[in-house]
Amino acid sequence: MTDERTHRPRVVIAGGGISGLATGWLVREALRDAFPLHGAEVVVLEPERRPGGKIWTVAESGYRVEAGPNGFLDSKPWTLDLVKRLGLDAELLRSDAAARKRYIYLNGELHRLPENPPMFLKSRLLTWRGKLRIVAELWQRPYRGEAEETLAAFARRRLGEEAYRRLLDPMVMGVFAGNPETMSLRSAFPRIFELERDYGGLFKAMFRLAREKRRRGEKSESGPAGPGGALTSFNAGLDAITGELAARLGDGVRLGRGVAQVARNGRGFAVTLDDGETLAADAFVSAAPADAAGRFLDGVLPDLAAEFRALPYSPMAVVALGFAPGRGVAAPDGFGFLAPWTERRDILGVLWSSSIFPGRRAPDGGVLLTVMMGGARRTDIAGRTDAEVLADARREVAATMGVTAEPDFVKIFRWDRAIPQYNVGHWTLRTRVEQVPDHVPGLWVVGNAFHGIGVNDCCAAALRTAAAVAAHLQAGRPEP
Ligand SMILES: Cc1cc2nc3c(=O)[nH]c(=O)nc-3n(C[C@H](O)[C@H](O)[C@H](O)COP(=O)(O)OP(=O)(O)OC[C@H]3O[C@@H](n4cnc5c(N)ncnc54)[C@H](O)[C@@H]3O)c2cc1C
Repeated sequence: MTDERTHRPRVVIAGGGISGLATGWLVREALRDAFPLHGAEVVVLEPERRPGGKIWTVAESGYRVEAGPNGFLDSKPWTLDLVKRLGLDAELLRSDAAARKRYIYLNGELHRLPENPPMFLKSRLLTWRGKLRIVAELWQRPYRGEAEETLAAFARRRLGEEAYRRLLDPMVMGVFAGNPETMSLRSAFPRIFELERDYGGLFKAMFRLAREKRRRGEKSESGPAGPGGALTSFNAGLDAITGELAARLGDGVRLGRGVAQVARNGRGFAVTLDDGETLAADAFVSAAPADAAGRFLDGVLPDLAAEFRALPYSPMAVVALGFAPGRGVAAPDGFGFLAPWTERRDILGVLWSSSIFPGRRAPDGGVLLTVMMGGARRTDIAGRTDAEVLADARREVAATMGVTAEPDFVKIFRWDRAIPQYNVGHWTLRTRVEQVPDHVPGLWVVGNAFHGIGVNDCCAAALRTAAAVAAHLQAGRPEP
């Protein structure tokens, strides 16, 4: 046990996004009981002037716009667990029931995504041949290869070319702004990989899981491969959670201060900041994007650091278009739509934000559309000016939704490195990242580049990591 009378443990965390802030606050809470005299010192270093990383809500002119994520799915427990611990439950905002209606833009029309077998049979999103090929999934043999499979290869093998192009491809663009031809099924959608491995196929898994749920007396809400759950945020926007975490950490969050270098220092670490100051740390957690981690961890993890620096990210532009009540734009009915790559549109899709969270994201009677652009196959977005991006966004909402009115509110956000791409080989990298504390005790690497792309995944990793950091400090540091 570390002697509290002589030593107050210090944990340094690089990155003030949800991963770093949640890990920091959870570590501090966990160690409060273990070191009742002084607790532990937690320092979160963030080079930007604002905490939250990709989570960033902007409220202006009666609109409330998300520059990054719009919410998290309530079908997974981790973010909700953190929300509960923070006492933010009363602020939660669940998407409207109508937001279960999601659309795909195909051949000049919006097609509703089928939610049940009768809708599937009636849908014009797929041809009869395409539908039969999906049903034939039941008889496909499971993959027994050793190599990581791409999402495209998996979808073609199990569901056929049409389902791949019209269903999986837009879904992958919607979640990862990614290219399924290069992405790893196992890293991007580990649950789908496991369903095939453990049950022999997706339909087989769906039937077996539904049967097991019925036996337990539970209600089944979605199929095994669907997103499941409702998009959930907060009344004031998603950055309510990162704002609360930063407020709880108080002056433990140091804004405008990034990590430049990490070196081993006896049983702990010497963390050099970009202004030259050096902090001694008993434990260090990297929760920064992969490229930054690759730079400051070069001295402690040279091989992995090189791979971090090489990990690709897709660029994105997010264009918010607001229409006041008098503009003649009707509130769209549903969640929004995605455009498959084969449609060759200049957008990934559009979120109908004011319909997802009615009354909370636009002035009364107004409409807020969030246009997502760029992605792994449209890296040219990074070189386009704001004026060009806006012109593209407006042309596209006119072509796909018939919205030609001039918006009275426009906000453009650019992310040159928006979303890490889990290409084939990522699963091996992820496994090695999980083994880092076995090789360098006291060091953890988290963040959405490694353990899952979503806010839920970041919170799951924060809960796991905080427990491991607390256990490490309580046990006393092992000999190097
Ligand atoms: C446009 C967009 C839409 C999205 N939509 C959704 C969605 O609807 N639902 C969902 O679940 N997920 C969504 N995501 C993904 C989600 O935003 C991320 O998974 C999550 O916010 C990542 O959190 P993080 O803390 O791991 O990383 P980040 O938020 O990237 O935080 C990392 C932090 O590290 C800091 N940093 C950089 N360099 C250094 C350094 N040298 N030292 C210290 N710190 C450093 C950065 O400034 C940053 O603040 C979306 C992402 C984008 C871009």
